[in-house]
Amino acid sequence: MTKETTNCLVIGAGPAGYTAAVYAARAGLKPMMYQGPQPGGQLTITNEVENYPGYPEGIKGPDMMMDFEKQARRFGTDIRYGIATSVDFSSYPHKVVIDESHEITANAVIIATGASARWLGLESEQKFNNAGVSACAVCDGYYYRGMDVAVVGGGDTACEEASYLSKLCKKVYLLVRTDKMRASKIMQERVKNTANIEILWNTQTDEILGNAEVEAMRVKSTLTGELKEIAIRGFFVAIGHKPNTDIFKGFLNLDTNGYILTEKGSTRTNIEGVFAAGDAQDFTYRQAVTAAGTGCMAALDAERYLAAKGIH
Ligand code: NDP
Repeated sequence: MTKETTNCLVIGAGPAGYTAAVYAARAGLKPMMYQGPQPGGQLTITNEVENYPGYPEGIKGPDMMMDFEKQARRFGTDIRYGIATSVDFSSYPHKVVIDESHEITANAVIIATGASARWLGLESEQKFNNAGVSACAVCDGYYYRGMDVAVVGGGDTACEEASYLSKLCKKVYLLVRTDKMRASKIMQERVKNTANIEILWNTQTDEILGNAEVEAMRVKSTLTGELKEIAIRGFFVAIGHKPNTDIFKGFLNLDTNGYILTEKGSTRTNIEGVFAAGDAQDFTYRQAVTAAGTGCMAALDAERYLAAKGIH
């Protein structure tokens, strides 16, 4: 195991991590950042971001994250590839292991590991992963041009995926398991008013069918139990997210869904010197702008913590 020390370690490179890095770097904390498995985070698999203030015409998610990264680098953040694979917060300074081989000892740790897509848990979903099953329309929609596809979910993500796919595909089935959607009104209206999106209410996926690739889905009515087979080539799962907090279990207090608990009005966790920002600690809002906001808070909390300890 190679070893290294740093003053302030940021884990994760989405809006929360980069914003924390900008603030920490400008405060002279010389932050080191490990980007994790998906540098740029979930916005790198988002097409158009229309609700981040300051972009009146909207901006593509990946472009926005490149700008965030540039800004973090500009003030001297030491940005590296690598995944935090374990932590030891039982003694001070804190230890974080990267790629199971490199141990970082840090005076302050800012966790901004975000969240990842959830899956239905069907065997066929795994079998056809990358052979018709996807959790990212923007990444994979292109392969299903002119074909029939399905999207599962009734939240903003599912509506966004369905809208995106409706421009590429012949027909999009949107599978909603109840008689209502969780999505914002504007997104619901958008899918309802799109001619080639058909919403299948009270419908759950029973099985994804095919040989080497997806050819159909068997759906089940949640009201009557009736089964129906529908031919499709692409099956997109958009049923929410799971916070990437498994490595912190046993050290940090998490809620029942695995989100990191922070002190009200701050980013402080139950461990001194460990701060949490972004979707890893936010079940409620989960927006790029709120993630960035809490990233800023985490850097300010870390700066104050280190100053109080006399560490600069
Ligand atoms: P949500 O948690 O909001 O919605 C998840 C959806 O998936 C719900 O409709 C839920 O149904 C359904 N679902 C969950 N499990 C299953 C299952 N096993 N089978 C079938 N359906 C299932 O997640 P989202 O990812 O859509 O959104 C997360 C957050 O991000 C929200 O706050 C959203 O507003 C925000 N967001 C904003 C966007 C924007 O503004 N541009 C874009 C995307 C997301 P049920 O309701 O029955 O539980």
